[in-house]
Amino acid sequence: MSATSSIEWTDATWNPVRGCTKISPGCKHCYAETFAERFRGVTGHPYEQGFDLRLVPEKLAEPLRWSTPKTIFVNSMSDLFHEDVPEAYVEQVARVMQLGKWHTYQVLTKRAGRLNQMLRTKLSHVSGLKHIWWGVSVEDKKYGIPRIDLLHKAPAAVRFLSIEPLLEDLGEFDLSGIHWVIVGGESGAGARPMLESWVIKIKEQCDRAGVPFFFKQWGGVRKSEAGRKLRGRTFDNTPARTVNGVAAGAARLAMIQQVESWHVQSREVVQLGVRRTSRKVATLVA
Ligand code: SF4
Repeated sequence: MSATSSIEWTDATWNPVRGCTKISPGCKHCYAETFAERFRGVTGHPYEQGFDLRLVPEKLAEPLRWSTPKTIFVNSMSDLFHEDVPEAYVEQVARVMQLGKWHTYQVLTKRAGRLNQMLRTKLSHVSGLKHIWWGVSVEDKKYGIPRIDLLHKAPAAVRFLSIEPLLEDLGEFDLSGIHWVIVGGESGAGARPMLESWVIKIKEQCDRAGVPFFFKQWGGVRKSEAGRKLRGRTFDNTPARTVNGVAAGAARLAMIQQVESWHVQSREVVQLGVRRTSRKVATLVA
C-alpha cells in the first residue's frame, strides 16, 4: 500500500492481495510481476514470495487510517477477482470500501466474469455505491471487448475502462453506461507500439458519447520522453467524485478495530487463497 502513487489517474494504491497469474495478452509485460519478482527471496520484504498470489489481511484496514479523502486504486499489484481469491475475502475488501466512504475506490480487473457475477450476488449491497468505481482492462478486441460487455451487464453505479496497453485498433464499441475511459500505451523493455489513430478513434467515440477521456501515456521504451500529450495537449478528464464526510476519529478507530477482528477469521481464508503462480498460461501471452 502506498499513500501516494505515480500512476497518473489515482492518488494512492491499496493492496490487500498481492500477486496474480497471467490471463491474456495485456499481461505479457505485467509491471506488477516485474516489480514483485525483483524481491523474491528477500527475507522480510512484502514481495519475498515474488508474484505468487497471497492475501494480506493485515492490510485490510489501511484506507480507514487515512483521514484525508483519496482516490485509491485497489490492488494495483494484483487482481481482486482472481479465481483463487475466496469470495469471503472479496466481501471483506468490499466491506472496508463501504465503511471508508470518504475515499473513492477504483477496482480494476481482467476477470470481468467474476466481477459481474459477484456484483449480482455477494457484492450487490455495494454495487450501487457511487464512491466505488468498477472497471475492466481492455487491450484488444478478442479479450477486451467481451469484458466491456460483461461490465455493461453488471449492476454497478460507476463503470470504467482502462484501455492499456492498447495493442490494436478496437474499432467501434459500446460506451453506453460507461462513465470513464483511460487509454495508454505499453512502457518498458519490449513495449509493443500504439498508433495515434487507434487512440483518436477511442477519443472520438468518448466525445460522441459524453464519456470523460483520460490519456495516460504513449509508453514505449523511454516513457518519459514519449510523454502524455495527444495532438499537443493533455487529457485528464475524470468522473466527478462523490463527496462523503470523513468519519470522526473515534468512529474510524471503531471501524479499524472491527476490521482487525476479521484477521483471525481470515487465517483459514488465507490458507485457501495462497497458491504458487501458475505458468500454464505462458503460451497464451507469449
Ligand atoms: S491481470 Fe493484471 S496483475 Fe494480473 S498478471 Fe495480468 S496485468 Fe498483471
